[in-house]
Amino acid sequence: MDNPYFEQARNLLRKFYGYRSFRPAQTPVIESLLAGQDTVAIMPTGAGKSICFQIPAMVFPGITLVISPLISLMKDQVDALAEQGIPATYINSTLSLAESDTRLNAIAAGRFKLVYVAPERLDTSYFQYIIEHQPISMVAVDEAHCLSQWGHDFRPSYRQIAPFIAGLPRRPLVAAFTATATPEVKDDIISLLALRNPQVHVTGFDRPNLYFEVRRGEDKKKFIVSYVRNHPDETGIIYAATRKEVDKVYELLQKKKLAVGRYHAGMTEKQRTKAQDDFLYDNIQVIVATNAFGMGIDKSNVRYVIHYNMPKNIEAYYQEAGRAGRDGEPGTCILLYSPQDTMTQKYLIDVSIEDEQRKAHNLGRLQKMVDYCHTPECLRHFIIHYFGDTSAPEICDNCGNCKAGLERVDVTIDAQKVFSCVYRMRERFGLTLVAQVLKGSSDKRVRELHFDELSTYGLMKERSLADIKLLIQRFVATDYLALTESQYPVLTLQPSAYAVLKGQEKVYQALPKAEPEKAPAAPELFDYLRTLRKEIAARDHIPPYVVFSDATLRDMCLVQPDTLDEMLNVKGIGELKLEKYGAAFLQCIKEHK
Ligand code: ADP
Repeated sequence: MDNPYFEQARNLLRKFYGYRSFRPAQTPVIESLLAGQDTVAIMPTGAGKSICFQIPAMVFPGITLVISPLISLMKDQVDALAEQGIPATYINSTLSLAESDTRLNAIAAGRFKLVYVAPERLDTSYFQYIIEHQPISMVAVDEAHCLSQWGHDFRPSYRQIAPFIAGLPRRPLVAAFTATATPEVKDDIISLLALRNPQVHVTGFDRPNLYFEVRRGEDKKKFIVSYVRNHPDETGIIYAATRKEVDKVYELLQKKKLAVGRYHAGMTEKQRTKAQDDFLYDNIQVIVATNAFGMGIDKSNVRYVIHYNMPKNIEAYYQEAGRAGRDGEPGTCILLYSPQDTMTQKYLIDVSIEDEQRKAHNLGRLQKMVDYCHTPECLRHFIIHYFGDTSAPEICDNCGNCKAGLERVDVTIDAQKVFSCVYRMRERFGLTLVAQVLKGSSDKRVRELHFDELSTYGLMKERSLADIKLLIQRFVATDYLALTESQYPVLTLQPSAYAVLKGQEKVYQALPKAEPEKAPAAPELFDYLRTLRKEIAARDHIPPYVVFSDATLRDMCLVQPDTLDEMLNVKGIGELKLEKYGAAFLQCIKEHK
């Protein structure tokens, strides 16, 4: 690289972050910024966006303003930087007037390189004092998709950024970062920020360390309980569509004596902050939440994200699921689909205050999400393709579909029984009644309607009612049957079902395997290091992942350093952290290796 600043950037990376090199996706973004070019970086969660603006910020004279939408997380972000010895601060509405003034003075005196600001606080007169003393070299806009109405998280306050920049005496470099941007969102970002000849860097959307799976017709409650129980030492997020669902899942897990937290907009600010902190500080491993939880959460050691309900579109799904495995270690993303999810999302679109055009747009995006839940092909390929990258391989070997491909079960006979029952009931009744007829139930309604006289009555009497319902749901999920969109949905046959009834086509399903219960493993070095990390974090009042990430602890187990010098070879240990924590971790390794 010709740019003399790049070498400096690499040295800063080693010294402050303890990483040996930039990742391939980071290099062009940093080069472009160091060359003074406005830049748009579209990188998936976990790709390492923050470093792309933090390092240039340290190279540039003056200060870099980082615009970030999440006030609640600014403190954590800034604390994490301070832990690494990077001079950063933040300005938002949580500060008292006096505290704001103190900070403004310190910023003007050149004490900070990075200043995190909420978009609502952007007002040139407020920053006048700073501008007179320190040049603003760069404005880095994080979560830049918030600018666009087409994005999934439009924030009107983001529209104040461009006028703010235009009002500055000297135009700074402008950089925009986001994890999710379809081409229309990207165009919006460029025009709404008035970027000048921007270089656009789109990192492949693939997150190879994430495993994707969709489970249809699963007994969701049973699955969640067993999953959480089987992964006792892992941090996880369970997303549900509504507050009510969150409460339901939360109470279920509590009842099973599993320590979990919850988070949704119906809770008080205090309760939410507590839940978030408990999660960040590893006091609880699992949190059940609506999508209100997590934007910008940079807890890097989330090992799984389970969607109890299908979200509204692929952008939202990929962003939420993408909170797993940000440290590059394996992460699991499972979506539990049921047909009811589609109806909930349709309902939410219907009652939203959007105009008709936008509702139609949202319905289209929802359909893509539903398609994802039904595709028999590679799930990773589906997602990457959705984001416009056509180069993704068709088989990834790390998703539920690729893995389950060979375990398809022939369910043609079951299908014929169910479809003919729906047919004989004239496609006028709901799932439960059809299941009752197949079961041979003596329910009053079954008898009143004379369904006990049908040839399909009792065809599945050896199965449980729940089992039959599940079977029917799977046929809905795979588009052989449909449920009408009404308050009391009625089962109807889809064209593909007729071919099966006539014996022209067979039906296969990739059926979910039950998870075997795992015996608890004996503690290993990693567990000791993790316990030590938690103790230090509690002592210093910072989240454990700010001390060291899971990836760093794992690398420690691999390297097993004997001296402090050797410890610098561990990924993620920079000079300041070595000084602060090196000795304690070295001791722990000596005792337990
Ligand atoms: P994003 O904002 O893109 O989701 P982050 O900036 O939070 O991602 O980075 C994700 C993780 O990757 C963090 O734990 C970060 O420390 C780590 N990381 C970033 N850059 C590098 C690098 N060059 N080498 C190793 N790890 C890195």
